[in-house]
Amino acid sequence: MERVAVSFNLCQPGRGASCGACCGLYNFRDHSRAALTERLAEQTSRMRAVPREPEAWRAAARELLESRREAPLFPAVRVCPLLGFLDEEQRQVGCLGHPKVADGVDLRDCGVYRASICETFTCPSYGWLEDAQARLVQAACPDWYLYGLVITDVEFVRGCLRLIERELGGPLRLEQWVGRPEVLEAARRLFALKETAVERASHAPIFGRFTPDTEGEPVSRTINYARLGVRAAPEDDVVLCLGYDAGDAPTLLAARERVQLHVRAAARALSD
Ligand code: SF4
Ligand code: SF4
Repeated sequence: MERVAVSFNLCQPGRGASCGACCGLYNFRDHSRAALTERLAEQTSRMRAVPREPEAWRAAARELLESRREAPLFPAVRVCPLLGFLDEEQRQVGCLGHPKVADGVDLRDCGVYRASICETFTCPSYGWLEDAQARLVQAACPDWYLYGLVITDVEFVRGCLRLIERELGGPLRLEQWVGRPEVLEAARRLFALKETAVERASHAPIFGRFTPDTEGEPVSRTINYARLGVRAAPEDDVVLCLGYDAGDAPTLLAARERVQLHVRAAARALSD
């Protein structure tokens, strides 16, 4: 079947979904919803109080950077203080310095990149996800925290869908998911393991599949099967993407079981 590239704006697709991952949103050991909500709320209230002119914004952005209590998990990846909530209800994350947000003034040069980079950057998900996969993530994850975690993890999305296909014994037609609330709910629960899966170390130097190398760059983690005395299993890519530190066999087996339960539930919802 011909691959259909992503045809919509992944960054701000609407219907509850929005993303700030490439602005450094999750780049901390503690990237829990509570910690990120607090940081975004602080950045929003600080920047919204500053007159919309570059010198004042640069000074306020510098202050926010200097007052940050936690260092980035990947020092090589920048964390921008201009990221915030775009609405009062704290449901949409986005750039406070974007001209559409800042009354027509472009203040993005006051962040950690030049405005021209912010304007033109697209992350690998634009090229690697298929349109139907991206639409499924948007429909199943209508909230800023979960959507950003999932839409930027192509390996996780593909891995989850592969496991469901395996369970069903045939290829998925993703168009059939959208518009079926019970199926979307099962997909949401599977994707939401990114937030809800237990037995993970909350402050480990781990973000999904990645850990920092000696230069602070993200490197992909692997499982040392020989040391654990277990064979590889189809769930393991998803287990790693969920951020499990599979350092012992019981943790790995429990994580696989958790993934399997959610995959079976999604397959069941699809078959009903
Ligand atoms: S990580 Fe990708 S989807 Fe998210 S805001 Fe950046 S470019 Fe957009
Ligand atoms: S200035 Fe650029 S990096 Fe900073 S929040 Fe805005 S878009 Fe993201």
